[in-house]
Amino acid sequence: MKSTMIAAIAVACLLVAQAASHVGDHFDDHHHHHHHHHADEHDDEVVASSSSSPHQPLPPSEKGEGPIKGHHCIHDQLVARAPKPVTIPQSYLKEHAWKDWSIREEQPLVEQRTADHPGSAHRVFLATSTDYSNMRFKFFFNVDNTGICPSVGTFVTTYQGTPNVNCTTNDVLTSLKRDYIVNTLMPQAANFLRGALKVIPINGSLIAPSTCNGITIPTSHRTTGVSDADFVAYVTSVPLPDPTSQTVAWALSCANDASGRPIAGQVNFVPSALTNAATLKTYITAQDVNTGIHELSHALGFSNSYFDSYVDLNNVYHSTGGRTPTGSVNMPNLGKSVTMMLSPRALAAGKEYFQCSTMTGVEIEDQGGSGTAGSHWEKRILYTEYICGILSSVATYISSLTLGYFEDKGYYVADYSWAQNGSMAFGKGRGCSFVNNKCNTQTGLPEFCFDTTASNQYCSPDFLGQGYCGVAEYSSALASNFQYFSDPNEGGAVSLSDYCPTGLAYSNRVCIDGSTTDSQNIYGNTYGSASRCFQSSMVQSGYSPGDASVSTRCFPITCTSTGLIRIDIRGSTAICPLDGSAGAADISGVSGYSGVIMCPRASSLCVSPSATAAPTPAPPTPIPTPAPPGQTPAPAPFTRTPQSATTLPVNCADRVPCANNITTRLPWCRFFADAVLACFGANCDGQLASWLSTNGASCTDPFSWGNANCVEGANGGAAMCALLNIE
Ligand SMILES: [Zn+2]
Repeated sequence: MKSTMIAAIAVACLLVAQAASHVGDHFDDHHHHHHHHHADEHDDEVVASSSSSPHQPLPPSEKGEGPIKGHHCIHDQLVARAPKPVTIPQSYLKEHAWKDWSIREEQPLVEQRTADHPGSAHRVFLATSTDYSNMRFKFFFNVDNTGICPSVGTFVTTYQGTPNVNCTTNDVLTSLKRDYIVNTLMPQAANFLRGALKVIPINGSLIAPSTCNGITIPTSHRTTGVSDADFVAYVTSVPLPDPTSQTVAWALSCANDASGRPIAGQVNFVPSALTNAATLKTYITAQDVNTGIHELSHALGFSNSYFDSYVDLNNVYHSTGGRTPTGSVNMPNLGKSVTMMLSPRALAAGKEYFQCSTMTGVEIEDQGGSGTAGSHWEKRILYTEYICGILSSVATYISSLTLGYFEDKGYYVADYSWAQNGSMAFGKGRGCSFVNNKCNTQTGLPEFCFDTTASNQYCSPDFLGQGYCGVAEYSSALASNFQYFSDPNEGGAVSLSDYCPTGLAYSNRVCIDGSTTDSQNIYGNTYGSASRCFQSSMVQSGYSPGDASVSTRCFPITCTSTGLIRIDIRGSTAICPLDGSAGAADISGVSGYSGVIMCPRASSLCVSPSATAAPTPAPPTPIPTPAPPGQTPAPAPFTRTPQSATTLPVNCADRVPCANNITTRLPWCRFFADAVLACFGANCDGQLASWLSTNGASCTDPFSWGNANCVEGANGGAAMCALLNIE
């Protein structure tokens, strides 16, 4: 049985492609031997334990094929090996962006760090919000041709320092893979971050280093410099020395400006992981773009090598010294000590996201070995956030926690309207008990499953895929605080989430994948961009629902103006609870089908298109000395006033859902969607034609659309959606 189309588990800096080791007819093999004590990147292999014969007998091609590929990040391993970023002062439009002050108190960013850095200077950032502009990215691909596999059997030296790596078929950088990186992944990742982050623009050209993690940089980049850039990425696609590695990408920064802001870095996409270059499935492209955003985020400073500085709410810069967080906070209810991110805006965003006002920090991933622990959010609580060390869901989301972290660095201003908190459901609003306690105290939530019955089905926690409860049998007993089953060797297949078992989607059962089909056609399953996964036993009248106690369906949904869920079952409508809570849908209006549909809480599926507000940070920690004179308040977050449907002309009705769909499905095309929403011009047929001739049918550079491009008329939105290949 082919193991193609493994849907996706993972995101990360060094994302690892998860092999589907159990697919097809190995459904009864529930035992994957996992050496979880081995602290290297393979430790986090997410394996399909399982499987499932779905309760209804499916023809072989319909069987689940194991989880989507997993990705797993090895960022920290690279940081440990790489030279420390060099400092290259740059020229800024706003000079004297910060001012050095003499010693102030040291307030560690990460609790209980070892030795604070004595005598470090503190800076007060003096810029105001108007001094910041959208961050400009430039990237250069394969500038020195090192490590690229031109053909099978060629020996290359990779940037991980391993010589004589023998290129396999999958290692070869085909033109399809190159184009996928250069024309899709990097431009779209950069588009997103350009919208989400603002910096004080570099004046003139960015002066690059001479080398970047071993890459020889063109001389002109450090002499005349790189124009119109605030960050330059040197992009490569070299294989990993270990052909069994599941890492799909990695990144490192290699130069900072005088304030410590990264200005250059390397991003590497492992060529064997770029299988979507040939298939271009929309939802996998989205995963891969998010991988690019994840990697760029590491290079921009989401890395424990940058955890040693932050600005407080008075905009005073603190540096605590040290390279990696070493401290820990004992969490008795978790049975372990954890490292906490304490910087104020990230913490405020965490309090708001989880609705936990007493949070003291945001937990940092502590598993995954030297490659993953320390530079990601803890998977147990932020499972679908894009800064997790492994991808195990269909989609991942950029949250206000990460944007808050970037603002805490002092040199970024975040636009929180780019945060995807609305779409991200995992843990949202679950309160302090969710954050502070083991997952097996959180029963009954769709975030976790504690079910070893192989025939039962579960939705992935993003409600985008049908799958199974990912429970694996390990070769030895798990640590006692990770034991959730009577069998001590049994635990969740995703180790980074503290072995908490979660629903893992089958690659051939992704609700939002319109190419998925259900040949049996009696369960009402409908696949497409509007579909979401429900626990359901619905079956066409006259058929038996089967004997599995838990099964799933993919149904298209719509959201009411008040954020409630309506479910379409082949033309009939089921209504989720009117108070927005989780519970059984009212199916009295459904004809031709019978059974039960269990709705999640409405806020898990229905997103207000309104912008995510900046979190309100807690008052600053009192500091013993008065703030130095001359400082200005923290830059106000840039907020984007969303256009609501009621402010648009009547004949723009079609383009509003289109634009909202673009923002949800292709967030890096956000500037385009905003342009559509903001456009009130009259001659839109003509402008559409003009737009087409200028931009073509892609959104690789939505910034070029921002000025005058407009779509009007009944067909405008649909035409644009078609251009963007939204199902
Ligand atoms: Zn990572």
